[in-house]
Amino acid sequence: MLRGRTLMEHPAGSPSHPVRDVVDYELLFDCVHCGLCLEACPTYKVTRAEMDSPRGRVYLMKALAEGRLALDDDAARHLDLCLGCRGCETACPSGVRYGRLIEDARAFVEKNYARRRADRLVRRLVGIVFPYPRRLRAMLAPLRLAERLRMRGLVTLALSGRPREWMELLPPLCKAPGPQTSTETAYAPAPGAPAVAVHHGCVTQVLADSENLNSERVLAAAGYRITKLRTTVCCGALDLHSGNLKRARQFARANVREIIRSGADAIVSAASGCSSAIAEYGELLKDDPEFAADARAVSAKLRELSSLVLERGAPRFREMRCTVTYHDACHLAHGLGVREAPRKLLKSIPGLRLIEMPESDMCCGSAGSYNLTEPAMARQLAQRKAERALATKARYVVLANPGCEFQIAAELRRRRSRAEVIHLADFLAMALER
Ligand code: SF4
Ligand code: SF4
Repeated sequence: MLRGRTLMEHPAGSPSHPVRDVVDYELLFDCVHCGLCLEACPTYKVTRAEMDSPRGRVYLMKALAEGRLALDDDAARHLDLCLGCRGCETACPSGVRYGRLIEDARAFVEKNYARRRADRLVRRLVGIVFPYPRRLRAMLAPLRLAERLRMRGLVTLALSGRPREWMELLPPLCKAPGPQTSTETAYAPAPGAPAVAVHHGCVTQVLADSENLNSERVLAAAGYRITKLRTTVCCGALDLHSGNLKRARQFARANVREIIRSGADAIVSAASGCSSAIAEYGELLKDDPEFAADARAVSAKLRELSSLVLERGAPRFREMRCTVTYHDACHLAHGLGVREAPRKLLKSIPGLRLIEMPESDMCCGSAGSYNLTEPAMARQLAQRKAERALATKARYVVLANPGCEFQIAAELRRRRSRAEVIHLADFLAMALER
């Protein structure tokens, strides 16, 4: 039986059954077309086109599933332009599982749509390099050298088009690790403290490893026992968002095996997209008889840094007289529902003043590899975010996702702003009493 389906939704002569396996068809009927999600959707805010809204995309998926619409350039474009930010899920009163729908729709597009060569190449490059830290390090080695020789600016100027946009997004590659990034923590775990493992991710361990190490440091300061994973492979989020469910499952299995082996009571990631992906392992591997139970167990262990820290009481912070604004990373706010804990922890730092920015939970355009594949829309959203963050005049823009950090920092650099974009873990580590 189809839930919530009415005759009015299927005028005479229109198909009302799926002829193609695009998404879980039943889920489409949760949408009652109320439109309450429209103003929460970043792409709709920019284009004002119904087909770039969640409601429009749900309609599009249904038309594709029922064979009333061909998967042509237009249809693929509207689906590609979705950030997968899940802002619509938060706004939806009807419980539409949009995140799940768009992941399946993306897999359908990847299987059935012939992309243009340039688009195919970009996506392929992202897919074969980014999930593998060694490959990413090798690809970035010449740039690291250029940076050491203080020639990165020149290299950037010599580029144009997409390579230049990509270059501008990259954070500094030769940051000297400050004392706060030391793995040697001075904190003894409290007796009987739960063991926490930090999943170091793929891109994060290459471009923002301080965020992993400082997550461990802050957790240790809160009294947790830190346990290291022997191996860390990509969490699979990049593949989930780009329709490669097969490889996402392979990565998920490897992570499930290692997390279970580690004996960790909780698992934390410095990247909100990775947290959200790990939280979905139970669903992703539910039909895998060998891994289903362990995947559910791992998903249940997934925790967010600040909530976990607050459970044991905030550690001792030194006074930091500064102003901070907080950007909600999509997968943290909309995926995991974490909004209050990071703010509460920040406000517990003596002297700190938190100034809220409008639309703090609207996507900045980073969205995994979206800013690499859809640079025009991503840039518009980065500009919107930068304007709102800068209007607060805060000294720091704090966030809990490296992708958002690179995206917003790049936009602030373009504006020659002195505001500093910093990951929550790095900020908290900086504030710890020594
Ligand atoms: S996931 Fe984000 S971009 Fe996509 S439809 Fe929902 S709100 Fe819009
Ligand atoms: S808010 Fe939910 S039910 Fe309403 S149009 Fe959007 S997705 Fe459909």
